[in-house]
Amino acid sequence: MTEMLTRTQSGLDVRPLRSLLDGDVVAPGESEWDEARLAWNLAVDQRPAAVVLAESAEDVAATIAFARAHALRVAPQGTGHGAAAMGDMADTILLKTERMRGVTIDPEQRIARVEAGTIWIEVVEAAAEHGLAALAGSSPDVGVVGYTLGGGLSWLARKHGIGANQVTAIEAVTASGDIVRTDWANEPDLFWALRGGGGSFAVVTAIEFNLFPIADVYAGILWFPVDRATEILKAWRAWTDEMPDEMTSVGRILQFPPVPQIPEPVRGQSFVVVEVIWAGERAAEGARLVEPLRTLGPVMDTVMTIPVRELTRLHMDPEGPAAGVGDGGMLDDVDDHLIDLFVEQVLRSAILSAEIRHLGGAVGRRDSRHGAIDAWEAPYLLSVVGMAPFPEAASAVEQSIRQLRGILEPWEADHTYLNVAGSRRRASQLFSSASYHRLRRIKAIVDPTDLVRSNHPIPPAF
Ligand SMILES: Cc1cc2nc3c(=O)[nH]c(=O)nc-3n(C[C@H](O)[C@H](O)[C@H](O)COP(=O)(O)OP(=O)(O)OC[C@H]3O[C@@H](n4cnc5c(N)ncnc54)[C@H](O)[C@@H]3O)c2cc1C
Repeated sequence: MTEMLTRTQSGLDVRPLRSLLDGDVVAPGESEWDEARLAWNLAVDQRPAAVVLAESAEDVAATIAFARAHALRVAPQGTGHGAAAMGDMADTILLKTERMRGVTIDPEQRIARVEAGTIWIEVVEAAAEHGLAALAGSSPDVGVVGYTLGGGLSWLARKHGIGANQVTAIEAVTASGDIVRTDWANEPDLFWALRGGGGSFAVVTAIEFNLFPIADVYAGILWFPVDRATEILKAWRAWTDEMPDEMTSVGRILQFPPVPQIPEPVRGQSFVVVEVIWAGERAAEGARLVEPLRTLGPVMDTVMTIPVRELTRLHMDPEGPAAGVGDGGMLDDVDDHLIDLFVEQVLRSAILSAEIRHLGGAVGRRDSRHGAIDAWEAPYLLSVVGMAPFPEAASAVEQSIRQLRGILEPWEADHTYLNVAGSRRRASQLFSSASYHRLRRIKAIVDPTDLVRSNHPIPPAF
């Protein structure tokens, strides 16, 4: 490899780092560069100073030491689902954990231990072998660590709370290069910050969390013609008022474009759907509760008892890299006026999916053992996304989302959820005031020079 190929565009010589790693380091100009810098979200053009493909905690520590010596920063990334909010990376080494894979299930203690680059489907499948379920997200290939550090909203959240608050231990490399294991007794402040505060505090190498004895759920989708969107969403909204914590649901408009990536039966068509997930013990009780929605007369009804592992495909999220623009936020309320405006705006937009998810239940309850996200008061979550295979499409979706968020602004809650914020927000908007100030104090202690960089950074407090 020539001298020219091992120096980055800014003249950084990565050879000393390469000689220390089990994994690889890729510099701009090298043949693997364009592949190495890709994020899962193909609409994001990442141009870091170098990319490290770490294989061990020691690789992470060596990368941090190298970055410090060269006045660079380090941005850990599992998959790049959350890459859109990252911003300019010219002074940053992108530290990919995708080679650090592995899941161990302890069926007696009902705990999973996973390495930093593990994706959700790997945990879901391994846990299901023991009749157990994880608080996994809607997508099979979202990274477990990024999802959990940001909060982790699963289909079981109204019953069991967010994923971050079921974490029992985290192993990480700190900004000073130490390899640590954190839990309630060891490095408790760092443990608290990592559970919901995002990726600003250390590079996580492994994470352990509780599993739940759930083998089957009663779940699926009720599909209706999109011209009934206002009526169906209002009926769904009223129905949510009566639901126990075991029932999670989403009211959603889907506008499938006529492109080959969309399966034939729905390609080019639009629907309003209600997704329901009943995690109670008796499916018959779930069926009784879903009955008022069924009387609305769906054109397709897929709600039935399914193995819990199939929940990772219920929401029809894209598997494998995709180009998209998305954003979201918390809503203080969803009333008929909001639904009128929501439907009108979405139907004339470039948005593929616009959903309102019912929160409340366990995600709204406080507990002294919780991490940086103690509880969310907002009862609903808005999340919207559109396809962005080329820049003009991305601009159209961005504009549609901006307009929708502008129209819904009177309902927007003070605080939003880091993992659905596709654009950079003020960090103070992502947490309660007390959590935000505590996170800043912890950041100042564990990483005063702001070496570890998150997609939603927390500035150190001095
Ligand atoms: C299709 C899709 C479906 C989704 N569904 C859900 C859902 O159901 N529920 C939900 O809550 N969220 C959901 N999300 C949001 C998702 O949880 C966030 O985008 C999350 O950040 C993804 O984590 P990642 O590791 O895959 O992404 P990445 O972009 O790799 O990571 C995001 C951030 O996490 C931090 N991070 C990642 N790895 C490490 C590490 N080893 N050490 C320290 N910090 C790290 C970094 O700050 C990084 O910038 C979804 C997103 C998409 C695109």
